[in-house]
Amino acid sequence: MLNDEIISKYKMTVGIECHVQLATNTKLFSGADNDERDKSPNSVVSPIDYGLPGMLPVLNRGAVDLAIIAGKALNSPIAHVSRFDRKHYFYPDLPKGYQTTQMYQPIIGAGIINVPLENGNSIDVRINHAHMEEDAGKLTHHGKFSLVDLNRAGTPLIEIVSEPDIHSSIEAKAFAIELYQLMTYAGVTRGDLYHGNMRFDVNISAALKTSKELGIRSEVKNLNSFRSVGRAAEFEFRRQIELLERGEKVVQETRGWDEAKQKTVSQRSKEDAQDYRYMPDADIPPIVLSDDEINSIQANIPLLPSYYRQSWNKLGLDDTVINALISSQSTAQLLQRIIEKGGESVARRVGIWLLLAIDEQSEDLDIGKSKNVPISDDQFIELSKMVDANELSSTAAKDVLFAMMQRSDSPRVIAIEKNLIQVSDESEIMLIVDEVLADQSSDKAVVDLQNGNDKVIGFLVGQVMKKSGGKANPSKVMELIRKKVKKL
Ligand code: MN
Repeated sequence: MLNDEIISKYKMTVGIECHVQLATNTKLFSGADNDERDKSPNSVVSPIDYGLPGMLPVLNRGAVDLAIIAGKALNSPIAHVSRFDRKHYFYPDLPKGYQTTQMYQPIIGAGIINVPLENGNSIDVRINHAHMEEDAGKLTHHGKFSLVDLNRAGTPLIEIVSEPDIHSSIEAKAFAIELYQLMTYAGVTRGDLYHGNMRFDVNISAALKTSKELGIRSEVKNLNSFRSVGRAAEFEFRRQIELLERGEKVVQETRGWDEAKQKTVSQRSKEDAQDYRYMPDADIPPIVLSDDEINSIQANIPLLPSYYRQSWNKLGLDDTVINALISSQSTAQLLQRIIEKGGESVARRVGIWLLLAIDEQSEDLDIGKSKNVPISDDQFIELSKMVDANELSSTAAKDVLFAMMQRSDSPRVIAIEKNLIQVSDESEIMLIVDEVLADQSSDKAVVDLQNGNDKVIGFLVGQVMKKSGGKANPSKVMELIRKKVKKL
């Protein structure tokens, strides 16, 4: 069996390929609907998608535009000339007999992304390239027969290919998350992981740390959750180490992830490497792009997570808080507007409130889309101003915040109705202070305080707060007790 000592002798090396479905209205080469969710099988398919003889594909310019935006998010150059090739193979979900893809001249060149890790560090992962291609249909297996659904056939994809710069299952998962955030922030994909809008293929190898060469890799295909990316990498790393420790060889092969058993299973060996007979697709002219065209399309890209991480540094919030806020684009955009409208100290406070709100919602992180009442920028700023003006304690502000998530009233209306407005008026507080100091139970504390034991003031403040129903401004209370006790 493996132990930590044995595992620590080995280094994991991971490269990830990710298929991203582009959020176009229609398919890559036909006018068929590109949103197959909740559609009955084979209802959104054009003859172009299954390659009837005589069909003529026409490239969807919207897909090209999204690829150009994706390239910007990956910090990659866009090729001035790229083109499509045919990758030949037979499979029931690909009745055309070939996949239209970009083998030799992909549209997106080499790039790099910075991936933040939970421990506050980050890693750089290089991108080899990304190419456009069409998706295949889907097969479902039912005992002795299988069914073909071609709704997905012809859906535009970009396949992003990373360099093997990932060296732990934690890094693999973090890379998948960052790629998801980049592609959804940029609006390249709908990002519906449940429906396979992003699918990860993870290439893993294990080698002794003393070895200069990489080990033989296996590829775990079609993972559609961040957690399974991390778990598959870890499982495969350990499986390979076990083989190597027994003196056996790792076979280069494609494996699948069994979610129920939480393990990888062999699907096919790569020994019989296929020859796809790639050739240029004669039906589709090359994509020719000028710098002006590329720049004008990329100029409209929304702010990306890295921008928020950098510009929010000055707020003095923890990295974990910032990353939690960035996990939802609409939350990030909201906080950015608060910085612009209300300044940094207001934004810092609102940032913490947003995190509380996210925790409260637990299921749906997206404050704008949740079942809760959306809270406007101005409401957040007003709530913050009430704290600054000592009208609300920070605890009371949280109560108001949670109430704001249930109803659309202003924070002031809610605070008044819940009787949470702090009393800062001296004469009002003085009445309660007098009452408390006159009470017998305070006698000892008063004497102690007069004798210089400052700690006991907490007890007296507590008594006043209790009597005021928590509404007195505690710093005012303390100030008045000191004044009064000196005079006694
Ligand atoms: Mn592919």
